[in-house]
Amino acid sequence: MSKKADITHDLHIHSILSDCCHDEEMTPERLLANAIEQGYDTICITDHVWDARVPGASDWYAPQTVEYIMKSLPLPSADGIRFCFGCETEYCGGNKLGLDKSSFDSFDFIIVPVNHFHMLDFIRPSSVNTPEAVANLLLTRLEELQQIDLPWKKVGIAHLTTKLTFKEGNIKDVIECVSRQRLLKIFDFFARNGTGIELNASSFAPDWQKDKDILLSVYRLAKEAGCKFYFGSDAHSVSQLFIKDKLLPVVDELDLSMDDLYSIP
Ligand SMILES: [Zn+2]
Ligand SMILES: [Zn+2]
Repeated sequence: MSKKADITHDLHIHSILSDCCHDEEMTPERLLANAIEQGYDTICITDHVWDARVPGASDWYAPQTVEYIMKSLPLPSADGIRFCFGCETEYCGGNKLGLDKSSFDSFDFIIVPVNHFHMLDFIRPSSVNTPEAVANLLLTRLEELQQIDLPWKKVGIAHLTTKLTFKEGNIKDVIECVSRQRLLKIFDFFARNGTGIELNASSFAPDWQKDKDILLSVYRLAKEAGCKFYFGSDAHSVSQLFIKDKLLPVVDELDLSMDDLYSIP
């Protein structure tokens, strides 16, 4: 039997270049120093991005272009740590991805969220406002996304159980409405294509244990389908970079071994 999974990486981190990050200390140098402290083998910087080649950016996304987030390059280095250059783009539905095909090669890792549903009338139509309708939209967006020709082995599916999915309600009510059959089929695709499924530290803090069975049911299904998982702090400040206390209980609950972990190709 393979060894219990350890938190040896953080593949979802925002730097000060992300518009929602207000911590000046979130520089590549600081992220690397933290990785050394934590004993990680891999970290990935994933600033929000909207490709200038793709029309239809929201006002918030428009300045956060590929060229803009490339200001982090070249990344600093240290022995024994792989520091990857990634991004967190956006999927809006209707085949609209915030990253053009011609930019895929610029990144080691591409995080795709489908449930930034707090961005009303950009990502979620405001008419979609019940747990049932939000659950259906979540599944539909994941199914649609799979029709896009993405470099799936270096794609991560962000925070499937984030509170942002249904900010005015409770994510737990949404998950209770999710069709297990549709979700299993979705995970089957990700498993076959080597896509990473994210365990997002921010989604598990601080009161997740009271809804633990329902929240974890999503990841249990992913595991059943054979998906691989990665850890992400989704940190926007230095204090959010410390994820072991938050994610080790999740690793235990899901009984993840090193074999269940995704790694960037
Ligand atoms: Zn996100
Ligand atoms: Zn993020």
